[in-house]
Amino acid sequence: MLLLTNGVFATMDPARPLARAAVVDGAYFAYVGEEAEARDFLRAFAGEQVEEVDLGGKFVLPGFNDSHLHFIHYVKARLSVDLFGCTSLTEVQDRLRKGLEGFDPTSGRWLMGEGWNHELFTDGRRFPNRHDLDAVSREVPILILRGCFHVGAVNTKGLELLKLTKESAGQYGDFLELDGDGEPTGVLKENLLDDVKGALPSIGLADLLEQVKRAQYDFFAEGLTSLQTDDFKYAPDEDPYALMDGLRALSERGELKLRLAEQALLTEPETLDEFFRRGMAQYGGGTGFRISTVKILADGSLGGRTAYMQEPYADDPTTRGIPIYEQKELDALVETAHRHGMPAAIHAIGDGGAEMALTAFQRAEERCPWFQPRHGLVHCQVMTAEQLRRMKALGVTAFVQPVFINGDMHIAPARLGEARLNGSYAWGTMERLGIPVAYGTDAPVEQIRPLDGIYCAVTRRDFEGNGPFLPGEAVSVEQALYAYTVGGAYASGEEAVKGRIRPGMLADFTVLDRNLFTIPPETIREARVLATYVGGVQV
Ligand SMILES: [Zn+2]
Repeated sequence: MLLLTNGVFATMDPARPLARAAVVDGAYFAYVGEEAEARDFLRAFAGEQVEEVDLGGKFVLPGFNDSHLHFIHYVKARLSVDLFGCTSLTEVQDRLRKGLEGFDPTSGRWLMGEGWNHELFTDGRRFPNRHDLDAVSREVPILILRGCFHVGAVNTKGLELLKLTKESAGQYGDFLELDGDGEPTGVLKENLLDDVKGALPSIGLADLLEQVKRAQYDFFAEGLTSLQTDDFKYAPDEDPYALMDGLRALSERGELKLRLAEQALLTEPETLDEFFRRGMAQYGGGTGFRISTVKILADGSLGGRTAYMQEPYADDPTTRGIPIYEQKELDALVETAHRHGMPAAIHAIGDGGAEMALTAFQRAEERCPWFQPRHGLVHCQVMTAEQLRRMKALGVTAFVQPVFINGDMHIAPARLGEARLNGSYAWGTMERLGIPVAYGTDAPVEQIRPLDGIYCAVTRRDFEGNGPFLPGEAVSVEQALYAYTVGGAYASGEEAVKGRIRPGMLADFTVLDRNLFTIPPETIREARVLATYVGGVQV
């Protein structure tokens, strides 16, 4: 057994919000309260070995739970050129050239880069094109992805290998950008980009799982113990089921200690049917690895103006974005999940996408009321007041990424216009309405740090302190911590076993160097994680 003393436990348990000591038995909390009582409690177990840890007055929270990210993509991204934070096209090129050092041009591999954002470029706010990338290499195929992962660019060598030409361009429509002569510029979007990513030679499953074992420690270092992760389209050899088996086996062998709940992205009726035929609704039901939802995409991204809006973009009246499905197609996918008792988490950034998703949820619940799976909206950034009320009425979970404020506060007002900001990034309103809210990052779109998101949710400012952005939508520190712990557990259907520091719950917790309730909110990002425990074991 483990006796933890001298801590400031913010338990997230309304029955005992603050505690000083806890006892862990195996993987679970057995007692939570004061030190003297904890020692009394242990008398009943006299003779058993008890390890004692003095927490030195530090701040203890339930382990953070990131409610939506792309873990396998993150693991792979660690292997490609990091383009996050590039402030010019020149810097993109320089970092890629560095990535080319030691790269074997005969390997058949592509040079990959991820994370650029043209809004940050000081030498021209435009998408990089094939000419920019040809300046890096004409021999090695290159693909670089925007930080939103909905837009990418390839060089001329890449276009050749993909057989994307003036002649073949017609079949790709808006997803393949063309120059004045009808030649591809190298810019690819959405479905075409997904197909290209899927077709590239990728790391094999065995090597990937080795990388998974290493990458989990990045998350422990940030206080994360649980992830809800959307990995199907990042599976090696386009075989998500082999990946599921691999992750589950790693977890069962104790080599993967990070708890994963898969959000299985299924975009076609056929693949969704196959998923249920394989019995995946009941797959991996333990506390280490499970499938918690199916994931469906309703639209694209705000940065790329592919998020689907009810009205045209304020800064480009020619477009309302791109819905991925017609309403009846989305209805059918949601109903299939619903009839298996499986929640559907739908990616919806624009109010047009959100409207379609809410309608699909409502229809499924009206037609099939014998199940009440906890459907959710992932991102739900641009919403109307009426849509927020519908979310509450339908019991729809909000999977939100507060750290998006850091970048979006600089583009959202122009994209959306003043009037539409009302209801957008409305996390305070969600709390007031009682919508279940779970926080996350969408990593590797953003960094994995929970403290960044908590800072943004509470202060409504970017990392430089600019703002506040829509300050009426700020939440309290307590609400933010709750959404990153209990809210996350609820979102994956596991609130009975984790998310709070309470007897009978998994002993997943993290120790911080300062009390987030008493420091100035502007300094939340400066807090440091000192230790993280999963199932009572330090990781
Ligand atoms: Zn995502």
